[in-house]
Amino acid sequence: MAYVNGRYMPMRNAVVHVEDRGYQFGDGVYEVCEVRGGELIDRRRHLARLKRSLDELRIRMPMSEAALGVVLREVVARNRIGYGTVYMQVTRGVARRDHAFPTTEVPPSLVVTGRVLNRARNETLAAKGVAVVSVPDDRWGRVDIKTIGLLPNVLARQTAIEKGAREAWLIAKDGTVTEGASSNAWIVTPAGSIVTHPADHTILSGITRAVLFEAIKGQGLTIEERPFTLNEAYAAREAFLTSASQIVVPVVTIDGRTVGDGKPGPIATGLRREFHRFAERG
Ligand code: PLP
Repeated sequence: MAYVNGRYMPMRNAVVHVEDRGYQFGDGVYEVCEVRGGELIDRRRHLARLKRSLDELRIRMPMSEAALGVVLREVVARNRIGYGTVYMQVTRGVARRDHAFPTTEVPPSLVVTGRVLNRARNETLAAKGVAVVSVPDDRWGRVDIKTIGLLPNVLARQTAIEKGAREAWLIAKDGTVTEGASSNAWIVTPAGSIVTHPADHTILSGITRAVLFEAIKGQGLTIEERPFTLNEAYAAREAFLTSASQIVVPVVTIDGRTVGDGKPGPIATGLRREFHRFAERG
């Protein structure tokens, strides 16, 4: 079941107008929230980031955060999601195709869908660790806004899959790793400090990333928020990626080179285990 502009309907009937600006221009934003034990994880932070993305693009919130919370919970319930994700997308709405914003007020479009994920499969993946490959970061200059315009991310992920990897790490012109195609990127240096890119305009400031900062401090570990090079990543003791749908996943190879001893490291594994003690539920 999906929610589409005010109505709950079966997925097969869940369609949007051909002149929706999301479809025509990618003129919209989205969020993905983890569901665990049937509860939304970090809803407050995800909705705050949704509001920020919309503000940056001058699209209004389609409804209050409280009302949107009700819709999200309804989609979770109607799809009987114990463990999975909810996806929400807001676009500038339906208007005759023209690049400039509609001149008369149109309501933003809101779509919410839910997905059940296989928990055992995700745990197995995390226990084994994943491969990543590096791909040039050729995205636009405002990837801090979570827009639905994801073509470079799509192409990067496809390259990764075709090379037998799970994720692409995006490399800026100066040789530093910005983030993954749909995740944030982290390494643990040989000296044991945890490094991730600063949350500036060149990455999406992950909610999982923000919560993990608290978990890292809670464990008395050191964080360095700075860009790191691909060469530093090759030589790292551990590497991992974070996102709301995967939480913390150890990276065991980068471009086919083994990271550390080639097994998920204790820091990534420990942070994955501890994460939900620091996340908000409900
Ligand atoms: N970076 C990009 C490009 C993403 O698409 C995502 C999530 O989809 C993330 C980072 C991780 O963000 P979050 O932890 O909020 O899911």
